[in-house]
Amino acid sequence: MAMVMICDVFTLLRTGSRGDFSPCLPSWSCLLSSMNSRSLSVVAAVCLCFAQSPTTTLRGKLVESGAGQPAIETAGRKLVALDGDPQTLAVLGDARLAAADLELLGQFKTPTRFAVGPFYTSKSVFVHKDGKKYTISYWCPTCSIRSYTPGRCVCCQEETHLDLEEVH
Ligand SMILES: [Zn+2]
Repeated sequence: MAMVMICDVFTLLRTGSRGDFSPCLPSWSCLLSSMNSRSLSVVAAVCLCFAQSPTTTLRGKLVESGAGQPAIETAGRKLVALDGDPQTLAVLGDARLAAADLELLGQFKTPTRFAVGPFYTSKSVFVHKDGKKYTISYWCPTCSIRSYTPGRCVCCQEETHLDLEEVH
């Protein structure tokens, strides 16, 4: 039964609901590594990811809406408060991204509140700079370890560097 479900997921991944599935690759490798112990719950999570209603794009400048809460100021100077899971909020709270031109994927909960897509099942936060689009990750040059939330390297405990990678 579990194998059948996993095969279904692979079929879903190949066909992809967004056309280009490559932005999901980092979370997919995490998912593979945890598949042995928690295969059923992970498969269920992936199914939920694909069962969600279509994502919406929100674009604008990353600002604070007060009390450290992240928000997007749109081109029309409208302020949209941002919700997300702790990992997403950690990225949005990174001071190095303050005032960045962000593209976020998720859903409007109200006209002034936007829930950014799940951190582990989709790439939902992109930076636009000089006409190019970048993914956000964090890099430890000492250990050559990449992570996806800001903070210290899991290995050497040095602060990781913000690493923007161009989306081609
Ligand atoms: Zn390190």
